Amino acid sequence: MLKKSDIWQRKSQKNMKRITIAKGDGIGPEIMEATLSILKASGVELEYDEIKIGEQAYLSGNTTGIPNEAWDSIRKNKVLLKAPITTPQGGGYKSLNVTMRKTLGLYANVRPCKSLPPYVDTKHPELDLVVIRENEEDLYAGIEHQQTDEVVQCLKLISRPGCEKIVRYAFEYAKAYGHKKVTCFTKDNIMKQSDGLFHQVFDEIAAEYPEIEKEHWIIDIATAKLADTPEHFDVIVTLNLYGDIISDVAAQIAGSVGLAGSSNIGESVAMFEAIHGSAPDIAGKKIANPSGLLQGAILMLKHIGESEAAEKIQNAWLKTIEEGIHTGDIYEEGVSAKKVNTSEFAEAVVANLGQKPTKFTPADYPRDIKMNLPKFERKALRKKDLQGVDLFVHWHGTDANEIGTKLEKLNLDNVKLQMITNRGVKVYPNGFNETFCTDHWRCRWYADEGFTMTNQDIAKLMQNAIDQKVDVIKTENLYNFDGERAYSLGQGQ
Ligand code: NAD
Repeated sequence: MLKKSDIWQRKSQKNMKRITIAKGDGIGPEIMEATLSILKASGVELEYDEIKIGEQAYLSGNTTGIPNEAWDSIRKNKVLLKAPITTPQGGGYKSLNVTMRKTLGLYANVRPCKSLPPYVDTKHPELDLVVIRENEEDLYAGIEHQQTDEVVQCLKLISRPGCEKIVRYAFEYAKAYGHKKVTCFTKDNIMKQSDGLFHQVFDEIAAEYPEIEKEHWIIDIATAKLADTPEHFDVIVTLNLYGDIISDVAAQIAGSVGLAGSSNIGESVAMFEAIHGSAPDIAGKKIANPSGLLQGAILMLKHIGESEAAEKIQNAWLKTIEEGIHTGDIYEEGVSAKKVNTSEFAEAVVANLGQKPTKFTPADYPRDIKMNLPKFERKALRKKDLQGVDLFVHWHGTDANEIGTKLEKLNLDNVKLQMITNRGVKVYPNGFNETFCTDHWRCRWYADEGFTMTNQDIAKLMQNAIDQKVDVIKTENLYNFDGERAYSLGQGQ
C-alpha cells in the first residue's frame, strides 16, 4: 500500500527531493525511524513516499514480496532507501533483493568498508576500501537444470555490456571520489572465456584512466591478501559471486558488518540499504544499531547530489562513535563510554550535527559529483564460423570406450567425433582408467579440415543419435569469432 506523506520541512518546493522508503521487517522500522530523524535534523530537503514490501507482502500471497504500487513508487522517484527484509522460510518465496536488482537493472553494488579503531574491534586498523561488485550476471542469473540423474548445471553468464558497465562504473567512482587504484579480481586462469572477458574489458577501460593505478589479481590469492593485508587495496571491482563473498570478508575484518551500508546503482534507479538483515532476535527491543542504514542513507545523499548533508551526518556519526556512545552490539567495557538504545544513539548523532570528529579523519566529500557513464554501444557484428558441436549425453555406463565406439556411429561424411570428456576431463580416446566418470558425457564433433560445418549437420547428428537411441540432453555450438577459437578445450584435449 502506498502511503504518501510529506513530513519534512519544506524550505523551498523547488529544492525538495522525493524518495521512496521501505521500513522493512524485524528491526527495520526501528532503525528507519532513527535514520529519518537524523536526516530530518540535518536540514536536508527531502520528501518521501513509503512502500510496504517484504514479509507482509510475501505472506499475503505475493511471491516476489513487492506489490505493484511499490514498483510504481520506486520507478517514479528513482531512489529507494530500504530497511532489511525478512524472507519467509520455505519454498516459493523469491529473494526480494535479487528480484529488485535484476528488474530495475541495478548493475553496480557498492560497499565501502572502513575500520574504526579502537572503537570497533579489528585486526586491520588501516582498512579503508570500496568493493564494487557486478550485480546482475554470473551464476546469479539463476539458470539451473538437472541434466542427468547425477549432474546438475548452473549457467555462468558474463556479457560484454555487463563487464563494460561495471568496470566503467568502478573507474568513474574512483575518479570522482579521489581513489588512487582500482584492482580487478577474477579467476581467468581457469575460466578463460567468462572471467577472461571481464579481465579483458578491465584492461581496455583501465587504459582510458592513465591517472589511476590498476592491477589484476586471481581471486583466491586476492581473497587471502584481502583477509591478511587489506590496506593493499583501494577500489576493488569484480564479478557477482566473488564480490558477494569478498564484500562480506571486507566488512567482517573491518569489524563492521553491523555498521556498513551499500548502494545498488542502475542507469535510472538506485537502492540504498544496510548490509545486515532484519535481526528478528532483537526486533521490538529498540536496541538495534541504526548505523548500517544510516551509512546507506549517506551513500544515497551523495548519489542525489546532497554531499554537504552527507558529510555533515557522517562527521556527526564519527564523532558519536569516537565519544564512545555505542549501541549494545559494539559496546565494550573499557573502550565505550555509554551504552545507548536505538533512539538515544540517533539523538547523540543529532546533537553532534555540525561538529567534526577529532580522533577520526573527518569526512570530506567532493561536491557536484559527475560520473561519465555512457550507455552501452553495441559493437559491429563479428565474423562467426561454426567449427563443431558438443552433444551432451546422458548414459548410465562407466566405460568411456564403450560409449565412444557407440557414438562413432553418429559420424557424418565430413563431421567426426573428436573426443569425449566427463566433467571436463578427456576420457575418450585414450582416457585413463583412474578418471571417475558420472552419467554426463560431453561429446565433441568437428568438421574435417577444409569443410565448413552447418546447422543441418547438427540436425543430422541429432537424427543419428535418435536412431542409435543415444539420449542427448543438450547441444552447444563451437564457434570461431574473427578466426579465433571461442570455446574451451577439454582437459587433455
Ligand atoms: P542478520 O544480519 O539479521 O542478524 C545476524 C546477527 O547480527 C543477529 O544476532 C542480529 O541480532 C545482529 N544484528 C544485525 N543487525 C544488527 C543491528 N543493526 N544492530 C544490532 N545487531 C544486529 O542476519 P540473519 O539472522 O541471517 O537474517 C535475518 C533475516 O534477515 C532473514 O530473513 C534474512 O533473509 C534477512 N536478510 C535480509 C537482508 C536485506 O534485506 N538486505 C540481508 C541479510 C539478511
